[in-house]
Amino acid sequence: MTTSASAAVLHGENQPFVVEDVVLDDPRPDEVLVRVVAAGVCGTDLGVVAGHIPFPLPGVLGHEGAGVVEAVGDAVTTVRPGDKVLMTFTSCGTCPNCLTGHPAYCEAFMPRNLLDGSRADGSATVRGSAGDLHGSFFAQSSFATHVLADERSVTVVSPDADLSTLAPLGCGVQTGAGTVFNVLQPTPGSSIAVLGAGAVGLSAVMAAALTGATTIVVADLVDSRLELARELGATHTINSGSEDLEARLHEITGGRGVAGAVETTGSARVLEAGIRSLAYLGTLAVVGAPAPGTTASFDVTSLLNGRRIVGVTEGDSNPKLLLPALVDLVLQGRFPLEKLIRQYPFAQINEAAAAARDGSVLKPVLTFG
Ligand code: NAD
Repeated sequence: MTTSASAAVLHGENQPFVVEDVVLDDPRPDEVLVRVVAAGVCGTDLGVVAGHIPFPLPGVLGHEGAGVVEAVGDAVTTVRPGDKVLMTFTSCGTCPNCLTGHPAYCEAFMPRNLLDGSRADGSATVRGSAGDLHGSFFAQSSFATHVLADERSVTVVSPDADLSTLAPLGCGVQTGAGTVFNVLQPTPGSSIAVLGAGAVGLSAVMAAALTGATTIVVADLVDSRLELARELGATHTINSGSEDLEARLHEITGGRGVAGAVETTGSARVLEAGIRSLAYLGTLAVVGAPAPGTTASFDVTSLLNGRRIVGVTEGDSNPKLLLPALVDLVLQGRFPLEKLIRQYPFAQINEAAAAARDGSVLKPVLTFG
């Protein structure tokens, strides 16, 4: 038995997506067949299109998928047909980092989610008219009407969940929110700076607004994004195109510096300014992903006051814990994710990607009829 589906195939770098007929096999014992209802478009998808992020082509991207389970493999125990699910990154579940609750730092993260474009045994999950396509992008490849996902990448959510709003939780939102909740953990009365007000940065702002942090500073180059940041809970904003970021962060914090910072711009200059703006014992989380090989510098002695710089993937989250919590926060109206989203029919995937690229839309979400 096979499942016929439509998928947006990327044939090469800097080419448009082409929606084509594809075929999926029945789920293997540890796999889940999901009918996709919605899929967010993330900077990581666009990074593959642009050739900055390695993924073999031709292939099917998409890694913020949400849908309904149609079938499960024999060994699957955590989801059933009919369940509403969100899809996210996968992990091996057996390496030391998975076993200590850090699946985003799974030792097999890169091959399983990005580099291989196939199952761990090298087989393809999706076939086009000309043969096997690279898939299993973040164990899903959700720019398609149906996907074969790895059970570990699938999280059941409330039957009340509106999947067309919740799809982006799987990557960008989880990353921003998880960095605040899991890594920075702002204490009451503390300060946090969010550098970059894209989907990841604004998710960090919404999370910070749910903590006791009383100073939430957001920096960006685009005034409309800063306005939205204020609506979502920022107490101060900085347009770092016209203002001195470091000077303003010190001024806003009375000269002390910020206790926590989330760098999402991917700019080495912004990262360096963020490090120089940390308070004693402050932590800067590096989330933005510039091209491999990008370097930044800092005064080594500045770290001797307890300052830390930590790289963060996917908010260092355990998706099966964080995703249902974020769904509840959205359903309760306490995490207004819908303010970031614009929906596009799947057929308009290239328009959605263009809107993400030119910054006119914060988070495009593809919907499948
Ligand atoms: P985005 O492009 O929507 O947001 C980036 C924001 O930074 C934009 O609003 C832009 O105006 C702003 N910006 C750029 N240069 C700036 C500067 N010099 N000063 C101030 N602001 C500046 O992207 P996004 O979807 O929010 O993703 C942010 C970054 O996070 C990307 O690099 C993405 O690849 C990365 N990412 C990392 C992870 C992870 O697990 N570490 C996960 C998802 C995304």
